[in-house]
Amino acid sequence: MENSCGAGAPGAASTPGLRQQLSDPNEALVIAVTTRAIFNLEEEHQLFLTKGKEEYVKYQQVNEDKPLEQGTAFAFIQAVQFVNEKLLERNPEEKGLFDVIILSNNSPESGMRIVKSAKHHGLEISRFCFVSDEDSTQYLKSHNVKLFLSADRTDVCNALQRGVSAALIFQQEVQTPSTQLRVVFDGDAVLFSDETDRVFREKGLSGALEYERAMEAVPMGEGPLKAFAMHLGKMRKKFSQENSPIRTYLLTARSGRNMGIRALKTLREWGLAIDEAFFMDGAPKGPLLSQIQPHIFFDDGLHNIQGAQDIGIPSALVPYAQRLPRFECQEPGALSSHRF
Ligand SMILES: [Mg+2]
Repeated sequence: MENSCGAGAPGAASTPGLRQQLSDPNEALVIAVTTRAIFNLEEEHQLFLTKGKEEYVKYQQVNEDKPLEQGTAFAFIQAVQFVNEKLLERNPEEKGLFDVIILSNNSPESGMRIVKSAKHHGLEISRFCFVSDEDSTQYLKSHNVKLFLSADRTDVCNALQRGVSAALIFQQEVQTPSTQLRVVFDGDAVLFSDETDRVFREKGLSGALEYERAMEAVPMGEGPLKAFAMHLGKMRKKFSQENSPIRTYLLTARSGRNMGIRALKTLREWGLAIDEAFFMDGAPKGPLLSQIQPHIFFDDGLHNIQGAQDIGIPSALVPYAQRLPRFECQEPGALSSHRF
């Protein structure tokens, strides 16, 4: 097993910045991203698939000094760094900072380009983990990771199965949003469990409405992104409403009139303060996303993800299906059916 995990790849300058020294692994909000989520490595990935590992490594070594272009999760990671700056302005001793790890299936030999690219773009990455194992998600728990973003579906499924909030990133065109970190969560099957989706699929809209009425006083189950949202909410609470560098949103297909109360009660029960909540009653999410301009939008519906991608919103698919025997993932096609 090859496993290289440190402040830099072998031979790279490994001088952790001030933030990395201050960050406390027990208090930090650790985010792990894969190289294909943070950088545009599509060409290189194709080379790997068609010509094999050896050619890929050779190419990465030859192009070591050519910085990689920004990928879909890049703006999100940049915004996270902005929040760290604001946290330290507020309290120079702050330990509860974002801590970003790059988790990569690259071997240490091909990883140098990744390290140099991160440095070129001014990214503060605390740890680079170059792991050649089939399932690199086995390192997530030991690194205390609270959110994992990957361009590999199996990776994401494995992470979810390990109980780590995770989402799938696709390479896409991205607009450059503002500095304030903006995160949009879908409700059902993202923050909340997919219990109402399941009732809807079995009994239709009237069945789902009846179920919601009957269950109004009962908080919904936890969805796959709840843990991350709770940590983000805790960080958000350190700032006032007016001066917060973080803004969080709930954007759900639920109708506010019939299905909004239970969602809001659940958030209250959890103690999760969301800055803004939108109940769309099945209307497209695109126009609002366009207005919010988030750094990341989490949804379990592929149609919503595609709609967001069309307007340049960085999107992350949460492939969630609790009804399956294990925490398995559905095929993309199955995700296009109506869900909340
Ligand atoms: Mg949903």
